[in-house]
Amino acid sequence: MPDIDWPAVHAEALDILREYLRIDTTNPPGNEAPAARFLGGLLEAEGIPVEYVEIDPGREAVHARLGGDGSKRPFLLSNHLDVVPVEAAHWTKPPFEAVLEEGRVYGRGAIDMKGFGVMQLVALLTAKRQGLPLKRDLWFLGTPDEEAGSARGMGWIVEHRPDLVDVEFALNEGDSGRLSGGRTVFSVAANEKFGCPLRLVATGAGGHGSFIHTDNSMVRLAKALVRLDEWQRGLTFAPDTRAYVDRLAEAGVLDGGTDEALAASIRARRGLTPMFMNTLNVTMVNAGVKRNVLPSRSEAILDCRLLPGQDTEEWRQQVAEVVADLEIAVEFVNDPQPTAMPRTEWDTELFHAIEASVRSVFEDAVVAPTMTIGATDNRFLRARGVVSYGFAPAVYSREENNGFHGNDEFISVETFNTGCELTYDIVRRLCT
Ligand SMILES: [Zn+2]
Repeated sequence: MPDIDWPAVHAEALDILREYLRIDTTNPPGNEAPAARFLGGLLEAEGIPVEYVEIDPGREAVHARLGGDGSKRPFLLSNHLDVVPVEAAHWTKPPFEAVLEEGRVYGRGAIDMKGFGVMQLVALLTAKRQGLPLKRDLWFLGTPDEEAGSARGMGWIVEHRPDLVDVEFALNEGDSGRLSGGRTVFSVAANEKFGCPLRLVATGAGGHGSFIHTDNSMVRLAKALVRLDEWQRGLTFAPDTRAYVDRLAEAGVLDGGTDEALAASIRARRGLTPMFMNTLNVTMVNAGVKRNVLPSRSEAILDCRLLPGQDTEEWRQQVAEVVADLEIAVEFVNDPQPTAMPRTEWDTELFHAIEASVRSVFEDAVVAPTMTIGATDNRFLRARGVVSYGFAPAVYSREENNGFHGNDEFISVETFNTGCELTYDIVRRLCT
């Protein structure tokens, strides 16, 4: 197999990224078709079969298949084409011109997630040019609408075109590498929390505001909210999150001397605690129509995020027990609410390929499975039994990470180049 001329690949990848960043796919409205056509065109030019899937006028997904010998099931590289809106007044660089300055490329989507999308695309181009003897197909999927909930993106695809995601493994956004406690830590998101919003509905008698009342629905609701706020919940360890903290503790990034010390370290970190418990926050309250009318109905919305594998009905009942008021109904906001999100295995061929690739460049890196506390498109694939990980093989600096939905979003050329090489290397290890 010929050696890869990486400097030439880097230069080509950078050109592709800059042109891609100039295509404005701000969602709403998205208008991702030109982006789908741009990426697809590059793959087609290389002789890779491409399909464009129109979901709405102006909104297309792009899907490409580089064929393997069929002895293993496909591997999907998946990314979203849309970006979130910019607050133009807070940007010092034009957000859609891909300005290259001091080794950084600026533009909306550089981090979230056109940069990683191009790393994936370049992995396909390179695999094709190298003539990699693939044991499994290598697929590429760029989707619309991730930033607005994916109903016109991955959500639509799994329902209407499940053949496009009928794979064994998938890689998408979620987590990445970063510096932590003096070590380079690569967190591979094998799972994520899933939403289970609840509505509390308190009822009372109503009446005139000039009387003495003992049955005010709003007071009833307020007391229930205080009980929920004071509810102490324990930490729940699962195989992936247990491995995550164990590996961090081994590396000295987290205090894991005893189980108590480990629990204390977890509870001390706001970003870490939600990986070990269901969370609940009251985010909306609605009651009352007039100053002198007692509200006979008061409502609150609870933003609940559950650990994978947790039963939603069980959770609803636990909340109702803490509310402890038969005049307050505890209801699901989503109808129907899925019963649970299955937990995806972390100790797989894909994880080992990632670990080996990362270690080939960052010898003493910590590579650990983790869980994202927000939602990504991975949830649609995991629900179908696909081992789908959220992981960009790049070390994002704190500044780069601020680019997620932030101002002056950029990716450094160095981060991007390493990401291109590692994405290809993961493909090579998993597919040959
Ligand atoms: Zn994203």
